[in-house]
Amino acid sequence: MRKLLRKLLLFIVFLLLILTIIVAIKTVGFASKQIDVEAVDTIPISDNVLKSLSEAIQIPTVSRVRGQTDSASFRKFYSFIDSQFVLADSLLEKYTVNEFSRVYKWPGRNARLKPVLFMGHTDVVPVEDLSRDKWIKDPFGGAVADGFIWGRGTLDDKINVIGILEAVEMLLRENYEPERSLYFSFGHDEEVTGVNGAKAIADQFEEQGISFEYILDEGSIMMENAMPGLSPPVALIGIAEKGYTTLSLTAQLKQGGHSSMPPKETAVGVLSKAIYNLQQNPFPARLEGATRALFDHVGPEMKLPEKAIFANFWLFGSMLKSELSNGPSTNAIIRTTTAPTMLRGGIKENVLPSQATAKVNFRILPGEDVDFVYNHAKEIINDPRVLVMKPDKVEGYNPSPVSDINSFGFKVIQRSVREIFPEAVVAPSLVIATTDARYFNRLSDNIFRFTPVLLTRQDLDRIHGLNERLSIKAYKDAIRFYKQLLMNSSR
Ligand SMILES: [Zn+2]
Repeated sequence: MRKLLRKLLLFIVFLLLILTIIVAIKTVGFASKQIDVEAVDTIPISDNVLKSLSEAIQIPTVSRVRGQTDSASFRKFYSFIDSQFVLADSLLEKYTVNEFSRVYKWPGRNARLKPVLFMGHTDVVPVEDLSRDKWIKDPFGGAVADGFIWGRGTLDDKINVIGILEAVEMLLRENYEPERSLYFSFGHDEEVTGVNGAKAIADQFEEQGISFEYILDEGSIMMENAMPGLSPPVALIGIAEKGYTTLSLTAQLKQGGHSSMPPKETAVGVLSKAIYNLQQNPFPARLEGATRALFDHVGPEMKLPEKAIFANFWLFGSMLKSELSNGPSTNAIIRTTTAPTMLRGGIKENVLPSQATAKVNFRILPGEDVDFVYNHAKEIINDPRVLVMKPDKVEGYNPSPVSDINSFGFKVIQRSVREIFPEAVVAPSLVIATTDARYFNRLSDNIFRFTPVLLTRQDLDRIHGLNERLSIKAYKDAIRFYKQLLMNSSR
């Protein structure tokens, strides 16, 4: 007996040894995917750029309700950029879409090269009256103080619109001539679906038969202390965007009546159970596509033991999935998320409700779609008394395709990042919010989503939140990045 036990023990030790050797080999062989390029010299950027972003912030181009545009503010905004960026205004072709969206074309010398498109949006979200006194600086004051430019739009998305125009203006001043045509499109209603801006712009491009080598829009950012075990900042290049849908649930029961003699379940109870079941049964976790590509790029740059974990998905995959499921931001990149957001039922506290309704918002992982979400939700709820309804068109769209990281577009963005931010690790990523770029899937196979600013995790709360601000250094670096990217893309 003792002999057998010893044999078993030896066998287990042997297995563990083999396992350790495999893990070690995989970890050592987990090669860096960062490209080796030389950093370019830091070009001087005048402080005038601060004044122009500040002025842009002071024009409150706020989007509140779809289809209701604050015409006066938008007119003021475009006349401001025309007077500020005089060379772009006079030397580039430009046209207006639906009154308040703008497209520029910088024709290239070689018409055989497919053009590239740089996107941004000129509208911003409102500032709640209730939160105004929590702002350190006036949200529409454009203050330049304490090393920052302050106000609504400094991160989302006037940084990109004005930053791109600054880079274009600098190149025009240097008489730069692109080989490839460069387009710039700035929608005016991204914060309220983008239907009148970006979608209309995309429709026009399609009618004109224009398609793009690649497209760059806002989306991911560069992040400090992004993950445990990783010290350099990560430039997260969005290569795909999650889909979006909202399902309506209606619990309909025959009986109403007095609440002194309630049946076993009321409409409110039935609906609650359906919502509870949805939350208790999350969509499957998947370490695939853009998220898998992210870990394959950051993993080799990590310290031990994290590096060993990401090098050995075969062994640690399930553990990793359950770990990632714990945080809202990491959970969102591995599965379709479920968020009950609205609830209504009953008319009086002592009257049995015959009907109760809820809305549940889903953000859909690439690889799944609106129909999958609908069927899956119905299956989980599994109650004929609850009617599950699909959304109308605006409320539902499928995830974007995943762009190719071996394409010219990804490579040129990767290279430009490393030239301007040599310390940064470049990694593909999944964008969990929505961007205007979703309307452009038909115009290019290679759509990337990236705002070239270095932020901390806490800074992310400032986007659409309180005390939105951008550091002066980050802004100047963003302009340097755009200038480099425009040059790298145009040849
Ligand atoms: Zn935005």
